[in-house]
Amino acid sequence: MRDICIVGGGVAGLAASMFTERAGLDTLVVDGGESILARNASLENYPGFPDGVDARRYLRLARKQARNAGVTFELGRVTSVEPIDESDLEQGFVLETDGGDPLSARRVIAASWPNSEYLVPLDVGRIQRGSKYHVDVDDAGRTAVDGVYAAGRIAGEPHQTIVAAGHGAKVALAVIHDSDANFYHDWVAPEGYFTARDRNIPPGCEEIDDAERRRRDEQARETILEAFAEPLDEQPTMHPSVERE
Ligand SMILES: Cc1cc2nc3c(=O)[nH]c(=O)nc-3n(C[C@H](O)[C@H](O)[C@H](O)COP(=O)(O)OP(=O)(O)OC[C@H]3O[C@@H](n4cnc5c(N)ncnc54)[C@H](O)[C@@H]3O)c2cc1C
Repeated sequence: MRDICIVGGGVAGLAASMFTERAGLDTLVVDGGESILARNASLENYPGFPDGVDARRYLRLARKQARNAGVTFELGRVTSVEPIDESDLEQGFVLETDGGDPLSARRVIAASWPNSEYLVPLDVGRIQRGSKYHVDVDDAGRTAVDGVYAAGRIAGEPHQTIVAAGHGAKVALAVIHDSDANFYHDWVAPEGYFTARDRNIPPGCEEIDDAERRRRDEQARETILEAFAEPLDEQPTMHPSVERE
């Protein structure tokens, strides 16, 4: 039984997974294929990349970041989510996939495309908009079913990468809040930031000294230099209706 299962390893799911895992919640991401962002030709409005970034490169880096945090991944399409015990949702949920064995988790974050069929058994409250089925959520991404959340496009958020990432993080913070995790903020602060004021380092926060800060910067530079060293030999995914013509 995992603490958290995230359905969808696109932008929102990856952002959510980093936060829940870094807060100490054992997090599994089940991903059924490809982020819609793989269709982008050049991602130019994501803060931090002054001349844009290849969207596939960005997705690789985000996946690597989640893995580095300790998130585990499973390939497969989730086909249904059901409570283990309908009278006690604290027991968690079982997720069926089109491939492997059923998975179970205390809490579920739906971060897939807005095609929420797999949530039908739960009666979370689906909203039809054209061919899409969004999930009705509150401000923090909670659905009508305790323990089930939605983030990103499936939660009706605007169709932009930074918004999906931010929403994934925000929903993860609600999940962390609702769980037993001892958490204040996910912050890395310089040595003394709290302790030099005779304060305990708050849960979820970390103080690092200058040597460790330099070590991490060195590692970060190496990772980024390697990731950007060569052009990526991957084409954007074309819209299926164009490919058929
Ligand atoms: C052509 C194009 C260009 C774009 N350009 C930009 C741009 O320049 N700037 C910008 O800000 N935004 C852009 N976007 C929008 C951006 O890609 C999306 O808003 C963003 O990817 C949404 O993130 P998400 O996590 O909600 O969904 P996604 O990133 O699509 O992630 C959903 C994930 O769920 C998985 N999944 C789906 N169903 C299941 C299931 N049943 N079980 C398990 N996994 C499942 C999918 O495989 C996918 O990995 C563009 C989109 C398109 C189509």
